[in-house]
Amino acid sequence: MPNPGDKVKVILKDRAIEGALIPNEETDSLVIKLKSGYNVGIEKSKVQKIEVLMEHKAKEPVREKPKFKPGLPTISILHTGGTIASKVDYETGGVIARFEPEELLANYPELFKIANIKSRLVSKMFSEDMRFGHYKLMIKAIEDEIKAGADGIILTHGTDTLGYTSAALAFALENLPIPIILVGAQRSSDRGSNDAAMNLICAANFITKTDFAGVAICMHETSEDTSAAILPACKTRKLHTSRRDAFRAVNDTIIAKVDFKTHKVAFVAKGYEKKAAKPDAKKNFAARPNFEEKVAILKCHPNMFPEQFSFFKDYKGLVIEGTGLGQAPTGVPNELCKIHEENFKAIEEVIKSGTVVVMCSQCIFGKVHMHVYSNAINLANIGVIPGEDMLSETAFIKLAWLLGNYNDKDEIKSFMGKNLRGEINERLLLDDANLGRTLPSMKG
Ligand code: GLU
Repeated sequence: MPNPGDKVKVILKDRAIEGALIPNEETDSLVIKLKSGYNVGIEKSKVQKIEVLMEHKAKEPVREKPKFKPGLPTISILHTGGTIASKVDYETGGVIARFEPEELLANYPELFKIANIKSRLVSKMFSEDMRFGHYKLMIKAIEDEIKAGADGIILTHGTDTLGYTSAALAFALENLPIPIILVGAQRSSDRGSNDAAMNLICAANFITKTDFAGVAICMHETSEDTSAAILPACKTRKLHTSRRDAFRAVNDTIIAKVDFKTHKVAFVAKGYEKKAAKPDAKKNFAARPNFEEKVAILKCHPNMFPEQFSFFKDYKGLVIEGTGLGQAPTGVPNELCKIHEENFKAIEEVIKSGTVVVMCSQCIFGKVHMHVYSNAINLANIGVIPGEDMLSETAFIKLAWLLGNYNDKDEIKSFMGKNLRGEINERLLLDDANLGRTLPSMKG
């Protein structure tokens, strides 16, 4: 019987499958990792023969310590987990993280030509499990690295909630003197289609070749390995479950493009945050890492009940992801909608209980206008705050951050409608879809 990791040819009655044998707990099936990166399961009873094409040899652990090169800037890589840090270990079958500088050197030697690389583990987790406490850990690690003299920070992160974290860091870190670039990957580093290397290398080039200071995201610009987009921290959403160019700026333009081959950076956004414009930046830099825990997002849908709204009476903040221009099911156009009177009352009671309620749209593009349709007008009249063109996830993070750091409710409410960190695009015209970029064809 071949061993895990061996390259094998599995002969079935009508075809043969080639790939690497993956450890599998099921005794009646085999799992083969194909060249494409996908895994296939095969029932053992259907296997006629297995030929071993190449035996798997366990790689010698990398011992070489990266050499410090005077004259090169220093980048600290802070790891939090996600696919970017994962690699399937064929000997154990588990997904393991690679984060030591030695391991990074082995996987991404080009990084070490761009900068002296330090590396530090913040957490080892998938990003859907992130809590506000993890943002605090990241913020503390960033403060430490800035104090230690880092010229830039790359924060590796799972892609699922990367946009929430980038917004959280943008709000919590004031007057950042250096760039903090969040990088993820849609395909793990043991797959041919892995996107981690390009995203990391483009992030490092962006850090060392520009005067940008602040928080941004670096991910594939297209599905090709040609360029990465530097995306705005508070206006970026993961728009596709698996494509490498899943991240798109919404209601805004990207900040810049980094060419993978030439390393050239082309700025797209005007008026990005600059290091040079902040001579006192190190002195003015401050971290405000508090986030109010009891904040939530509620998505509106047909057939809602009042208890779905009144549930949030104990909460300090609520972002309603309403329909279209900012409506919720609160109107009574006919008998079937009678219960909507109760929906409206429930929202009113939530507001009276002291919860700050903000309205965003479940449309991707555009902004809320709460003075067009009666349902929205009535909600605005009882104190629902329009979230302008903010992504609902950004509004959620902003609301939690404001509630965590300010006491005055009126001040919090007025800040919700003002642009603090690029989260509200004041220049967005009514019908603007996506400034500077069109949506991909979504084919292939
Ligand atoms: N769901 C995981 C996460 O967001 C893995 C996916 C990824 O890293 O892209 O952390």
